[in-house]
Amino acid sequence: MSAFRQALAERQPSAGGHRRWLYVAYDQLSHEIGPLAEAAPEEVGIVLVESPWKGRRRPYHKQKLALVLANQRQFALEQAARGVAVRYVVHDGPYREALAPLAAELGPLAMMEPAERELRADLAPLVDDGRLEVVAHGGWLTTAEQFRDAAGAEPPWRMDAFYRAVRRATGLLMEDGKPAGGKYSFDAENRRRWPGEPPAPEPPRFTPDAVTREVGQLVTQRFARHPGKLDLEALPATAGDAARLWRWARAECLESFGPYEDAMSRRSSGLFHTRISPLLNLHRLLPRRVVDEAARAEAPLASREGFVRQVLGWREFVRHVHRETDGFRRLPGGRPAVRERPGDGGWERWSGEPWPAAGGGSDALDGGASPSHLGARAALPPAFWGEPSGLACLDTVVADVWREGWSHHITRLMVLANIATLLDVRPRELTDWFWAAYVDAYDWVVEPNVLGMGTFAAGELMTTKPYVSGAAYIHRMSDYCAGCRFDPRRDCPLRRLYWAFLDRHRERLAGNPRLNGPLASLGRRPADERRRDRALFAAVRRRLRQGGELAPGDPVTEP
Ligand SMILES: Cc1cc2nc3c(=O)[nH]c(=O)nc-3n(C[C@H](O)[C@H](O)[C@H](O)COP(=O)(O)OP(=O)(O)OC[C@H]3O[C@@H](n4cnc5c(N)ncnc54)[C@H](O)[C@@H]3O)c2cc1C
Ligand code: SF4
Repeated sequence: MSAFRQALAERQPSAGGHRRWLYVAYDQLSHEIGPLAEAAPEEVGIVLVESPWKGRRRPYHKQKLALVLANQRQFALEQAARGVAVRYVVHDGPYREALAPLAAELGPLAMMEPAERELRADLAPLVDDGRLEVVAHGGWLTTAEQFRDAAGAEPPWRMDAFYRAVRRATGLLMEDGKPAGGKYSFDAENRRRWPGEPPAPEPPRFTPDAVTREVGQLVTQRFARHPGKLDLEALPATAGDAARLWRWARAECLESFGPYEDAMSRRSSGLFHTRISPLLNLHRLLPRRVVDEAARAEAPLASREGFVRQVLGWREFVRHVHRETDGFRRLPGGRPAVRERPGDGGWERWSGEPWPAAGGGSDALDGGASPSHLGARAALPPAFWGEPSGLACLDTVVADVWREGWSHHITRLMVLANIATLLDVRPRELTDWFWAAYVDAYDWVVEPNVLGMGTFAAGELMTTKPYVSGAAYIHRMSDYCAGCRFDPRRDCPLRRLYWAFLDRHRERLAGNPRLNGPLASLGRRPADERRRDRALFAAVRRRLRQGGELAPGDPVTEP
């Protein structure tokens, strides 16, 4: 018997007595919210489903597979130890197939509404005929009504308006009805480059027990083809690990979180970011707890506010945008195409082997909406899978991602999404790459961040302009350029890529007040420079698509 099965059998409460049965989805791992919080342990039983089919749908990073499986198994053991009866099912197919016989045996199962649209679609037939009874998800901090009241029933939606309203509604960082410190956002003060001081904290290491080690072996064997490094000591798996990670974040990160929120460095992949998103999204850490404790922590107000804005503001906001648009399937400009099957994020082109994604056929789950406001159609270059590109910023962040399954917000936005957008990469393909590569990625959060924010694929739905920049931003906010073969002021390809981007999309972008300045500068750019911008764009894109490297002095980068 496996270490997990044996530990579960040892902890399982004795049979007997009537229990109400609940289904707890893989990302709802808390007994402090929803129906599991409302009943005494001896009155409930929970069903947990492990689905290798789900793991194979995309080329998920090994660390993500291990994170989800280890947390779900540890949660099963923790609940059994509390006196909750646990049915732990492994089923190699959609979740509804696993749950249907259990609902027949145990009666209708109650569950909190899934956060992922993909799971909602999978379970819809069981909900429709009453075999699953869905109640509201107790982990969110805001409701759809609050979102519509604050941000508007129709797009465009802006995070600031929503955030101000929810600060007032929750009373977080409010004093006598006014925002603490006299303003809602200290963002303008939180844009410092990191000079190497104060030292960036080392993330905690954990000691995997026999159950987590067994998950590590399972991932290595069953998901051998999946990319990414498996590092069990970096993986918080138990409730105790989650508490330790959050203690570390509060003690080591919060103080300097604000000022260096936008900084990037080769010397630290995380700087003062908390790394709690994987556990927040699994509900091993509860958003309510982290915002309450951060708001009361002993740290500068700009840092506390910056953190609260991310969780209470951005995290809730993107979830509402996803839900209101039905996963970007309903947009102001119409209904974008929907992929039939899950995309592999460019895996096949890079590895030379097809990804045998499930999807379509019996399970009938699609691969997500593919909007592209700017008509971007290029393939994601193999550099995102680890082939050297010669661009130090890109290569550094990509290496971080395949080593850790994670990188922080600004690296995602201003390096990865920025470079992909400058190259006119298909937004859906980039989204699928992020979904596969990051340990914290689920449809409700990765799609708004990549389609809505990172690539401008949904136009002005949730941002006022595309987040694109040339070398200047990366040079100002990071130390990447110091280790690069290119010079950010002279021959860095991102400079011309930026101008070429504005030039290609100037008609679409015209009329956007936030782009008046850049478009006016483009208009003053000599015709010959614009021709060279276009030539560099075409040549760089070709070279990167072929998996080649860029170098100074090469005709590709100096047209
Ligand atoms: C292109 C792109 C893709 C992204 N994909 C994901 C994703 O798949 N999953 C994910 O959880 N986040 C995603 N984000 C948002 C953000 O980058 C991560 O939440 C954050 O980097 C996680 O690291 P952290 O826990 O150290 O965050 P911190 O910087 O410590 O912030 C604290 C928390 O705030 C929340 N948060 C901050 N910004 C956002 C945001 N824009 N959307 C949602 N939550 C936010 C997260 O829960 C995070 O844990 C993405 C951002 C971009 C630009
Ligand atoms: S010089 Fe250009 S390519 Fe190199 S790290 Fe800086 S911004 Fe990136």
